[in-house]
Amino acid sequence: MAERTTKSLGFPSFCMGDLSYVDIQQYLKHSDTILIPKASLEQHGPHLPLYCDTITATEVAQRAGEEAGILYTPTIWMGYSPQHMREPGWGAGTITLRADTYLNMIYDVGRSLIHHGFNRLIFVNGHGSNVKVIDPVLRKLRNETGALIAYYKPYAERYIGMLKDVLEGPVEETPGWHAGELETSQCLAHNPDLVRLDRAQADKAHAPKWLGEQGWRRCGHLAGFHRRHPPGVSHGAAARRQFPRRNGSFRQERAARGSPRSRGLSCHPRRRPAPAQSGLHPSCPA
Ligand SMILES: [Zn+2]
Repeated sequence: MAERTTKSLGFPSFCMGDLSYVDIQQYLKHSDTILIPKASLEQHGPHLPLYCDTITATEVAQRAGEEAGILYTPTIWMGYSPQHMREPGWGAGTITLRADTYLNMIYDVGRSLIHHGFNRLIFVNGHGSNVKVIDPVLRKLRNETGALIAYYKPYAERYIGMLKDVLEGPVEETPGWHAGELETSQCLAHNPDLVRLDRAQADKAHAPKWLGEQGWRRCGHLAGFHRRHPPGVSHGAAARRQFPRRNGSFRQERAARGSPRSRGLSCHPRRRPAPAQSGLHPSCPA
C-alpha cells in the first residue's frame, strides 16, 4: 500500500471536507491513514486570535497531508480549556468542553473514521491542555477496535525542542509559553493581519513567592500560577525572520514521515460499528 499513489488521484485537496464520498472510497483503496488536527478556541492575550492553537494544528496537518498525500479531517476547534475562562462576564471568548464531553467527541470522531475503513488515525494536537485528558480515549479506541492510534504533538506551548536556538526570549520569559514568542511567531507566519503586536505586552510566568527564587523552574508549567495567563511576549518580529521556515518545514516533514512509517506496524481493526451503535448513546435505538 503506497501512500504516494494517492497524489495521482487528482483530488483538489487532501482535506476530507473538500471531497465527496467517491473520493474517500478511492483513497481507501490506496491508504488507510488519516490525520485529525484538533486544538482549541481560547484567549491568547490581547494580541493573538482565539484561533491560535487551531491555526497551529491546521497548518501542520494541512502541510503534512498535502505533501504526503494523506487525508486530513477539518480541524476540531473545540478543546479542553477551563483555565482560560476567566471570571463570569469578563469576556475572554474561550469555549471549553467538559472533559467527558471532549472524550466522547474524540471517541465518536475516531469510531466514525474506523467505521469507514481507516485503520491508522494520527491525531495532530495544537493545544497543550487537551493532552491532560485525552489518554483514556486513545487507549479505548485502540483496545476496542485494534486500529493504530497515534498522537502527534507539534512544537507548541512549553515544548520548544529544536527551536531553542531560534527563539530569542530568555528561558525565564518562557518564550514557548501560552501566547508567547513561539505562538506569536506561528500566528505571524500564518497571517500577520491576525496579530496585533501593538497590543502585545511583555510578561513573565511566575511561581508563588513561597517556592523561592527558582520556583518557576519547578512549577512553571502549572498554568494556575500564572494568574493573568500571559498576554504575551512581543518577540515575534525577531522570530519571524527564521521561525516560519524552520518550524514549518520541520513539523511538516516529521508529521509526513510518521504516516508512511506507521505502515510497517501491524494493524487489523476487529470491529467497525459506527459510534451510535457502540453503546455510548443509550438513548439511540439499537
Ligand atoms: Zn496556544
